[in-house]
Amino acid sequence: MKKPSPVREVTIVGAGQAGLVLAIGLRGLGHRVRLILDRPAAVIAAGRILSGQCVFAPALAAERELGLDLWSAASPRIGAIHVASRSMPPDRVTRQSFVGTLRAPAESVDQRIKFPALIDVFIRMGGCLEIMEADMACLERYALESELLVVAVGKGRLASLFPVDPMRSPFSAPARTLAMVYLRGAMPPHHVGCVSSTAVAGAGTVMHFPALTHGGPCEVLLFEAMTGGPLDIGCKGLAARELLAAMRIALAKCLPEEGERIADAYVTDPGASLSGSIVPTVRHGVARLPSGRAVLGLGDAVVLNDPLVGQGANNAIRMAMVCLRAIAEHEGPFDDVWLAACASRAWQEVSAATIWTNMALRPPSVQAAALMRRATLEQAIADRVAQGFEDPASLLPLLLGLERA
Ligand SMILES: Cc1cc2nc3c(=O)[nH]c(=O)nc-3n(C[C@H](O)[C@H](O)[C@H](O)COP(=O)(O)OP(=O)(O)OC[C@H]3O[C@@H](n4cnc5c(N)ncnc54)[C@H](O)[C@@H]3O)c2cc1C
Repeated sequence: MKKPSPVREVTIVGAGQAGLVLAIGLRGLGHRVRLILDRPAAVIAAGRILSGQCVFAPALAAERELGLDLWSAASPRIGAIHVASRSMPPDRVTRQSFVGTLRAPAESVDQRIKFPALIDVFIRMGGCLEIMEADMACLERYALESELLVVAVGKGRLASLFPVDPMRSPFSAPARTLAMVYLRGAMPPHHVGCVSSTAVAGAGTVMHFPALTHGGPCEVLLFEAMTGGPLDIGCKGLAARELLAAMRIALAKCLPEEGERIADAYVTDPGASLSGSIVPTVRHGVARLPSGRAVLGLGDAVVLNDPLVGQGANNAIRMAMVCLRAIAEHEGPFDDVWLAACASRAWQEVSAATIWTNMALRPPSVQAAALMRRATLEQAIADRVAQGFEDPASLLPLLLGLERA
């Protein structure tokens, strides 16, 4: 990427996955970057878990392009995807089960470790960090003081600034109820080093995969429960240990061998739990402040997906890289034409992941069911499905029946 001139003044609100990648990338190009975050890094580090954050190889490569390869030695390797579907006990019929190999290892590094470390990198690169919960008045001020204002606040309230795109937002309510804990002390899973995803008919999906958290490796256990079903433990606000206990009881009903596998497991720390739900929502990538000034949205603020196929952090990195390249290539003002083009390119980058995620939240189509059956029988198809997690655009034509595997 060639260094443009002149030096740009960019303000980024939100120092999560998208904001940090963009901020570090822009500092690397010599631009003046102010990053606004609503809480100090130490509060993030000591707080509640934020995500499952499994990042696949292409997004990891993008981070590494920026010199961000901080955990590949310490982080457990995720080399494959295990997909299974089962009926509820007492039948316990396994309908499908396959393991597909990823092209290159994926990594899940607790965002409570990752974000403070990347904030530190940004500051050491000469970036300016301000701790402030930005509101509309702040946005007006940043827009006045900067050539470009980027809003990357994740699920934060300011996302509502961006109008919902109804054509790309097929859900009006959460499709799943989420419960997640970080564990140690479980027996090794049948398929080691995998993202393992087991759909239980009428209940939802149980996922687990290795990750790196405070104090070393752990296992992420995530329920993607159908609302009101037996995996929906409706445990908002429970302490981590209590949430794990409730998840164990639900597993005993729905997936007893998993319940037995984690019988002696314990949560890694008191903050190692998260529960709630998400309404998948795509918003227009450019918004207007009351003054008429325009702002660009990135990451979950404008493309918020359910985590069922683990694409949100990957999307945030992809969108940040699109924005970084668009800034690097551009020498004129960040006017409406540039903003619209950048937002459109960012959406193109993550549209396949979004369409796939929304498909996965519904009962499988005829084509998708046939693909999963073939993946159970043919290793090459299983590998293509797994590699779809790395590159959703390569999987979507198969899922839609537009390409024969
Ligand atoms: C249970 C669960 C599991 C997940 N698992 C995965 C997975 O395995 N793989 C994957 O790719 N994705 C996963 N995700 C999604 C992923 O975590 C998000 O998509 C990703 O972090 C989004 O990045 P972002 O930068 O848009 O937002 P965030 O990373 O959420 O960052 C937003 C930042 O903005 C800050 N902020 C908010 N409001 C303000 C304000 N007013 N002023 C200043 N700062 C503000 C926040 O504090 C935060 O630091 C999961 C999500 C959930 C809920």
